[in-house]
Amino acid sequence: MANNFDAIVIGAGQAGPALANRLATSGMKVAFAERKLFGGTCVNTGCTPTKAMVASAYAAQLARRGSAYGVNIAGAITVDMKKVKARKDEIVRNSSSSLESWLRGNQNITVFHDHARFVGPKEIAIGNSRLTADKIFVNVGGRARIPDMPGIDQISYLTNSSMMDVDFLPRHLVIIGGSYIGLEFGQMYRRFGSEVTIVEMGPRLIGREDPDVSAEVKEILENEGVHIRLNATCISFRKDGENIAAGVDCNEGDREVLGSHVLLAVGRVPNTADLGLDKAGVKVDKHGYIEVDDQLRTNVPGIWAIGDCNGKGAFTHTSYNDYEIVAANLLDNDPRRVTDRISTYGLFIDPPLGRAGMTEAEALATGRKILIGQRPMTRVARALEKGETQGFMKVLVDADTKEILGAAVLGTGGDEAVHCVLDVMYAKKPYTVIQRAVHIHPTVSELIPTILGELKPFDAAQNKGAA
Ligand SMILES: Cc1cc2nc3c(=O)[nH]c(=O)nc-3n(C[C@H](O)[C@H](O)[C@H](O)COP(=O)(O)OP(=O)(O)OC[C@H]3O[C@@H](n4cnc5c(N)ncnc54)[C@H](O)[C@@H]3O)c2cc1C
Repeated sequence: MANNFDAIVIGAGQAGPALANRLATSGMKVAFAERKLFGGTCVNTGCTPTKAMVASAYAAQLARRGSAYGVNIAGAITVDMKKVKARKDEIVRNSSSSLESWLRGNQNITVFHDHARFVGPKEIAIGNSRLTADKIFVNVGGRARIPDMPGIDQISYLTNSSMMDVDFLPRHLVIIGGSYIGLEFGQMYRRFGSEVTIVEMGPRLIGREDPDVSAEVKEILENEGVHIRLNATCISFRKDGENIAAGVDCNEGDREVLGSHVLLAVGRVPNTADLGLDKAGVKVDKHGYIEVDDQLRTNVPGIWAIGDCNGKGAFTHTSYNDYEIVAANLLDNDPRRVTDRISTYGLFIDPPLGRAGMTEAEALATGRKILIGQRPMTRVARALEKGETQGFMKVLVDADTKEILGAAVLGTGGDEAVHCVLDVMYAKKPYTVIQRAVHIHPTVSELIPTILGELKPFDAAQNKGAA
């Protein structure tokens, strides 16, 4: 016999728990299913552990640079990988277990720790139980994509998940994929002491960013001794004794990189193939993402898809915003929509990149007349004082409407500073609002009003980054 609930939430990622709590607090009887780790990707194998390890890597790098600040540290700087992992594990464990107890502590939520799958549009099977509900919310997230590259089945490889168990220093880490995840791991392991090679198929790193951002990030990483192979159009693998030989190019340069370990960081796939979506009649796109409308409803009434599995976002903050959108529509009579959202994210190398809104290419594609304000971090007092002057900041503005179109702040504090631009974009106010604002000295943010007072026509051919 099936147990009946008012709502079933599948997946303890970034949207599911908050939504379950909201529904339960409003009086609904909620069933909650998580098959593995409470907190999902972000807490266990994504944001939280990587940023904890980025912090260890930063400490190592700062210690190496100590003498530049007048701080003498006797002896070589070494990194204890077991301690790095233990620190990371503790942060993750605390976060995951407090989330689990929070859910279990809600009297209106029944938690099932097992795989859930649809057996009908209103019925779910979890282990030996059958549950029914008029409202079902799918927050199943995604996992690392395993590319179909020649020889991949001959080698053992790491992904962002198995990297979490590494408590030793790989001699030479070969990272396949020069995008956000690959770059964070790359710099971090270089700072821990590994030799690192990042292999990217495209002509530049983080190909969705502006060319000047890609170039500066490449320089930052190369300055620290990370090897970067671009245009690696035919990647393959073979075992070479204890090592793994990664074929990186068919036509030019060294044809192979010999590494001790390979990390695959070539994108994500949604966890939707084993969910029985066909039994419920829920449509997915050709990549397996669940199709949803602007308010995250699937094609089947009573079923919503939230977080990475709907393909509308790939971040913790977009997943959490999905929860807010669904809760607002269902419980608050507030018709919030996905298209209200402005694209924003960080790349957490050091120094970090904070991004908001359009890239140059996206802004140009709108056909608008564009102005740009920009400045290198070498001309930012706070960056000079901190001895962290790599990077630059820039803001794009619509010349006619004065609307801010986008911003990139690559530099110390860039992940925080970009929010002052983002908030004015949400407020739909002209750039002159920030230009006239008085910001704290000395901060990175204080230069945003300054560069907005120095706007120049944007010329794609001429612009090579900061003036
Ligand atoms: C290495 C790395 C670093 C990242 N860093 C950042 C960052 O700094 N900032 C940022 O914003 N984003 C970052 N991300 C992305 C971020 O982690 C994801 O966007 C976010 O976790 C998506 O959350 P979600 O709610 O969609 O699902 P997830 O967090 O993936 O959770 C889905 C949950 O559903 C469960 N599940 C799946 N199928 C079933 C089933 N059938 N039955 C029961 N349970 C099921 C899974 O076990 C999982 O717990 C990073 C990702 C990675 C891989």
